[in-house]
Amino acid sequence: MTKPDLLMTGPMMQMIQDQLAQRFTVHKLWLAEDKEAMLRQLAPSVSAIASGSHVPCDPALMGRFPGLKIVSSFGVGYDHVDAAWAGKNGIVVTNTPDVLNEEVADTALGLLLCTVRQFPQTDRYLRAGKWLEKPYPLTGTLRDRKVGILGLGRIGKAIAKRLEAFGVPVVYHGRTEQKDVAYRYYPSLVDMAKDVNVLLIVAPGGASTHRIVNAEVLKALGPDGILINVGRGSVVDEPALIEALKAKTILSAGLDVFEDEPRVPAELIGMDHVVLFPHVGSASVHTRNAMAQLVVDNLVAFADGKGPLTPVAETPWPPQA
Ligand code: NDP
Repeated sequence: MTKPDLLMTGPMMQMIQDQLAQRFTVHKLWLAEDKEAMLRQLAPSVSAIASGSHVPCDPALMGRFPGLKIVSSFGVGYDHVDAAWAGKNGIVVTNTPDVLNEEVADTALGLLLCTVRQFPQTDRYLRAGKWLEKPYPLTGTLRDRKVGILGLGRIGKAIAKRLEAFGVPVVYHGRTEQKDVAYRYYPSLVDMAKDVNVLLIVAPGGASTHRIVNAEVLKALGPDGILINVGRGSVVDEPALIEALKAKTILSAGLDVFEDEPRVPAELIGMDHVVLFPHVGSASVHTRNAMAQLVVDNLVAFADGKGPLTPVAETPWPPQA
């Protein structure tokens, strides 16, 4: 039996490459000397794409393959895939939800604690020999904090559960109120920012969230306010954030995601009152393996005629008429 042709747009974990090679003829776009020639040659035959976030999976790419049926994307966020276009063109898009909820929630709590209690700064202080001179200055605390979550979805709820265990009050903002949660809902992001002293972002990227955390929201968060972002860098107006941190419009920030990764503005790197992580929210061996397996399982289930396991909202399965 001939194996179906699958295009892998960029380097993916070895276990994904190994497992897919058993079931598909895998074409590695990033290794092609002449990418254009590879795409042209594969145009009639590619039925599946395995995609990381490194290459946009846009209509210009997907549209080259009339027989394309599925795009399996690594990660729960899929803003690099034009899923709305895929849905309209009979292509199902899958992502890797749920298997990373606990890891990303752990990271969010770690980042929040690091930012409030300045743990990375205390580590630098000790290594610089300054403890020998005097103790590290007293820091802020989680005890007097109220957290507003922007994006109370799967991961947001795992974060809220942890915050409850820490005894920290939680409220949230999203486009819709969720009747089955006990946390207070704010229809307005600015109103929520006014009422909390931590704004924690775990909303997806894309047009509807682009820079919604802007100068007005940061002003509402106020001089005691802390911004934590484990969602997407594009949700924050980064120049406005830098300005707010410089002008002490807000107190500090803990960021795992940035607008133009892996490039992080020098101004942020130069600030000692921010904590910066290199997008490590889900980056443990355990969780990345689980995500990788889901990328493979979606493609194999689909090729076996069983349908995708985790289609995204824009491409429901079975397709709606
Ligand atoms: P979910 O889809 O379960 O939750 C997303 C939440 O965001 C929903 O509550 C939704 O509520 C809200 N939301 C969506 N659009 C808007 C909007 N325009 N305005 C306000 N709220 C909005 O996703 P997950 O919890 O699984 O993942 C969330 C995001 O976290 C991912 O998309 C990804 O970008 C990021 N992420 C980051 C990681 C990291 O390494 N730092 C790792 C994993 C994920 P409603 O529909 O009511 O608006």
